Order: sequence, then C-alpha cells, then structure tokens
Amino acid sequence: MTLSCFDLGERMLSVDETLEALAAMTPPPVATHRVSLAAAGNRILAVDAVSPVNVPQNTNAAMDGIALAWPDDAPAGDMLVDLVGDVLAGTRLTTSLALGEAVRITTGAPLPAGADTVVMSEQLADIGIPNRIRVEQPERVRRGQNVRQAGEDIACGQRALGAGTRLRPQHLGLLASLGHAEIEVFRPLRVAVFSTGDEVTAPGESLPPAGIYDTNRFSLQGLLSRLGCEVIDLGILHDDLDSMRVSLAAAAREADMVVTSGGVSVGQADWVKPALTAIGELGLWRIAMRPGRPLAFGRIHQAEGVTVPFFGLPGNPVAVMVTFLQFVQPMLRRMQGEHDWQPLRLTALAAEPLKSREGRVDFHRGIYTGDDAGQLWVRTTGRQGSGILSSMVAANCLIEIGDGRAAVEAGTPVTIQPFGDLT
Ligand code: AMP
Ligand code: MG
Repeated sequence: MTLSCFDLGERMLSVDETLEALAAMTPPPVATHRVSLAAAGNRILAVDAVSPVNVPQNTNAAMDGIALAWPDDAPAGDMLVDLVGDVLAGTRLTTSLALGEAVRITTGAPLPAGADTVVMSEQLADIGIPNRIRVEQPERVRRGQNVRQAGEDIACGQRALGAGTRLRPQHLGLLASLGHAEIEVFRPLRVAVFSTGDEVTAPGESLPPAGIYDTNRFSLQGLLSRLGCEVIDLGILHDDLDSMRVSLAAAAREADMVVTSGGVSVGQADWVKPALTAIGELGLWRIAMRPGRPLAFGRIHQAEGVTVPFFGLPGNPVAVMVTFLQFVQPMLRRMQGEHDWQPLRLTALAAEPLKSREGRVDFHRGIYTGDDAGQLWVRTTGRQGSGILSSMVAANCLIEIGDGRAAVEAGTPVTIQPFGDLT
C-alpha cells in the first residue's frame, strides 16, 4: 500500500518519509511535443536519441599534416615519403594509397583508403623535391597515431542519450552531431504561485507600518524558471478564506501545480488549510526538519477525476527555499519527465561545531571550500534564522545534518548539498 498524505495524520514525519510519500503522489509526466533544437535547452528529452550515423562519419585526421599508408618495413634512419595528393576538410579522395604513400591532409578530412597514420606538419621537412617530403624523428611516429576512427564518439545505432535527460548545452551539441534539427521533449510545466498575508506588500508599493515586502514570490519564480517551468504569477492573497478558496480553485484550472507561501501554520490568520479542504484534500505535515515546518501538501479538484498538486510552503523566506529545493523540486522534475534526479551530495569536514538536534534534519546555509590537499571544508554563513535570507545569498551549499546526529563537532564529516543549477 502506498503512503498517502491524507492518512498520515498528525504524526511528525521524517524527511525521508515525506520524500517517499511525495514520490508516491506525484502525477505522471506531462505530454510531449517536438521542438527545434534551438528551443530545447533545459527541456527534458522524451525519447531515447539513437544515432542514425557514425560520429564522426569517416575515419579522419586529428591534425594538419600528411596521412600515410604505413610502409611494410618501418624505416630506419631518414623516412622519405611520396605525396600523391591533397585532401582538404570537406573533400575526400576516392583512390587508395599504396604502402608508403601519403597525401597532404587537414584536420577533420577523411583518410583515403589505405592510409592509417597521420604525421603532423611540425614533424615534416621540405627537402626541395616536389611531392616528396621527409619525416623528422621517424622513431617517434607510431602506426595509427593522430587518427580519429569513424564512430569513435557515437556509433551508428547506439543510444546516445536516454529519455528523461535534462538537455544542457553539451546535450544540444551532441544531438546536433547526430543530425537532429528537432527533438521530442516534455512540454513545459505551468506552475501558479501566490504569496499570502495581509502584511505582505508588493515591491514598488510603499511599505505600510506593519508591512513586509513580498520576498517569496520572487525567489520561487527564480527557482521555477531555472527549472524550466512557466510561472503563472498570481500575486498576493489576503488572509481571507473566501478569496483564497476562489483564487486557488481558479489557479488550478490553468496550472499543473499550485504553490503558495505562508498561512499554513495554525495561527488565527492561517487560511490555506481550510481553503484547500473546501476545494480538494489537504494534508498538513509536520516534518522533522529545520527550517521548514509546517508544510502543506494536497490536491485541488480541477474537473471530474482530475486533480492538481498543491504545495503550501511556510512563510519564512529561507524555509520557502529549503522546502522548495527538498520537496517541490523532486516532484516538479518527475512531472517534467526527469525520472531519476537526486540532489548532489558531497561530504565535507565541519570547520566549526554545528548545532543540530537528534530526531530532525537540520539544513544550515553553508560555505564550502577545498584546501590544498583536496579536502572539502564547510562552515555556516553565520546566523541561521529562517527569516534571514541573506544567509542564502552568502551560501554556496546547504549543510544537511541527518536526524541521527545530536551535534556536529569541528573536524567531523558532514553532508553538503552544493547549490546547483537552481540556486
Ligand atoms: P505565516 O506562516 O504566514 O505566519 O508566515 C511566517 C512569517 O513569514 C511571517 O513573519 C510572515 O510575515 C513571513 N512571510 C510570509 N509570506 C512572506 C513573503 N511572501 N515574503 C516575505 N515574508 C513572508
Ligand atoms: Mg501569514
């Protein structure tokens, strides 16, 4: 039986249990479409890319110089070679070379039949006789050197990239090298984002006496667009049950996921939970982590039998980013078709004692460096309050202290999640 958020009750969940429950409740990936290669960056490949050609197509020269048909008897002393033609990149010679014969060749040009070795220009000396050339230091020439074999990068019929790959620049180049002008990718996810709170004020407006500028909508938009999602920015919701209910239901009609921040505690002005209960199902999760409690996850009924996943993130700006990275990100990546993504984790030595508590995972904002011996060290950015967003700005990683550890002493190993392509 899969764990559902709706029967987890009020029990405190571990981070691992939360991840497992979310994985079980992730909707299947969205539909796919064909896009031009130029528009495919950061999208997820929907099919395996199998090469219809050898890359490179021909066995070719890796250097400018001569392509030589290795003579039967390797020369002792001077090596004089007969030149029987020129092969420039983009041309090919259809005749084949006899043993000991050579052609002048440029980098990338196909080796003529019979040729198997390339000697670079710097090793050749003009001896004043047309079509004859001397190879200097022939003892340094190895048969087969400076030759790129046909198909040595990717062989015809080989699976070059697997479905589920997020396309980075090197993937785009590789797909182009196979001759693909278009490729099948998952369509972009549409994610609706709200902030909540009567005190939360849009930047650009004057700040009321008890106001705070809206931080979370902008950090969330940044995270989402770097993930390749289309952001539907729905502004700031008042702490009011009816408007929240109506706005969330409307958002779910146009989005693949709805994300809010704030209003999920159990204070008087926390309306996310009742609003969701009215239009879907909501689990309010107490997760054994810091920062990041509480987190709401649920689904909004969109149409008969169709639901849209919902995350109600905490209000504090650091907690928003940490919970997004740990919980929202894996679900979005799966919905985008990137099925086996895991955050990068490395081990570093703590450069200072780190506070934590047994029974919960602590995420500190950290700065890691490498020393001359190749050892990674990590220290915190200083004050770690969940409202101190400058800690995220100063950091280059999250320090993840597992729930089995009461404290981390200086000089002991600790797990870090280096900031990756989102942060
Ligand atoms: P809440 O859970 O709504 O009580 O929010 C917790 C804390 O986060 C409060 O201090 C809020 O003012 C703050 N907060 C909530 N939403 C935002 C936001 N969008 N930008 C900055 N701070 C926020
Ligand atoms: Mg609030």
